[in-house]
Amino acid sequence: MKDNLLHIDGPRLWASLTEMAKIGATAGGGVRRLALTEEDRRGRELFATWCREAGMSVWTDEVGNLFARRAGTDANAAPVMMGSHLDTQPEGGRFDGVYGVLAALEVVRALNDADIVTDKPIEICSWTNEEGARFTPAMLGSAVFAGAMTLDDALARTDAEGVTLGAALDACGARGTRPVQGVAVDSYFEAHIEQGPILEANGTTIGVVTGGQAIRWFDVTVTGVAAHAGTTPMRYRKDAFFGAAQMALEIERVMARYAPLGLVTIGQIQVANSSRNTIAANLTFTVDLRHPDDAQIDAMERDLRAVCASAAAARGLGAQIQHCWTSPATPFDAACVGLVAEAVEALGYPNERIVSGAGHDAIHLARYCPTAMVFIPCVDGLSHNEAEDALPEDVTAGTNVLLNAVAARAGARVPQAANAEADA
Ligand SMILES: [Zn+2]
Repeated sequence: MKDNLLHIDGPRLWASLTEMAKIGATAGGGVRRLALTEEDRRGRELFATWCREAGMSVWTDEVGNLFARRAGTDANAAPVMMGSHLDTQPEGGRFDGVYGVLAALEVVRALNDADIVTDKPIEICSWTNEEGARFTPAMLGSAVFAGAMTLDDALARTDAEGVTLGAALDACGARGTRPVQGVAVDSYFEAHIEQGPILEANGTTIGVVTGGQAIRWFDVTVTGVAAHAGTTPMRYRKDAFFGAAQMALEIERVMARYAPLGLVTIGQIQVANSSRNTIAANLTFTVDLRHPDDAQIDAMERDLRAVCASAAAARGLGAQIQHCWTSPATPFDAACVGLVAEAVEALGYPNERIVSGAGHDAIHLARYCPTAMVFIPCVDGLSHNEAEDALPEDVTAGTNVLLNAVAARAGARVPQAANAEADA
């Protein structure tokens, strides 16, 4: 198929997105389709119906991941997978997740229209509970599939009302019998809105996603001496708050060395036994470090520790840094990213390489099989918001990229042409 670029039917995909957005539609123009609720059940059913109409077989696995399969000519080949999620945030939008699922369906419809067969089967998966809004953690279905979480652990998770995931699966009719783990996969491709402002700001249509960034979380505890706010002269004080404030500004200054890829956030500050007329003696703040490169985040951690130690020493304070959690960098597969890049170039869309700032099912899949993602811009960079929006031409462009990358990976051909080649 090298010289034959394939194209999807943009208006058909848009119509499907519009139809799906009616399920759980909110007054504010968004969607509320929480995992394994009645709305989710209706969304799954509509998607399954469309897949069957496209000639696909449909099933769910033990954790409710919803699969649809288009057969390939090689009965022994592992499938090329596409997917994302149909669940939303409580006040979610019309594109987060559902775009990747319906783009995948449109890829299959377009292959059908063009009478194209593939050597490898093509499967679509809508992963259970990606958003983490009803059950924690987020990306639960893909985590179990990829072996990052056990099935039993997932089934025992409860929502705010104490309903287990297992019970919710049954209530939703989503619990299947196919094993969720140990499934052979050739590769995984996910299309998604960027959920940030970068593509739009740069005027690019497609983000060729190179991977997910590393994340490290710390608690920094600053220790001073509690004393009376009215009787203690300033030069005698060991004030944990002003020490922490100095650390915070120093951290921001030092981390600028790692811009634009390096990110630092202090999201929580807590003063123990705080009182307005007592000098703060025991303060803890959180630090969230992110970078797509593990070596760079190592360096960021060293800088964080050095900055806190020197600011504490200068003020006679104690500073303790506790590491809480790490998620390593997840580079995507070079060959799959290459197929996405080739498709984008051949189609002629303005594009750039981009790192996934948010968590996605693809991050779990990338630790399991060769994986790539395609990003399209979202209006004003907004997501997890009822106003979330994407332009029809971008929706079409991203799906054309997905189509051509997946077709290449799956060994797409028009049967007659293949026969003619074999005869020659
Ligand atoms: Zn999503």
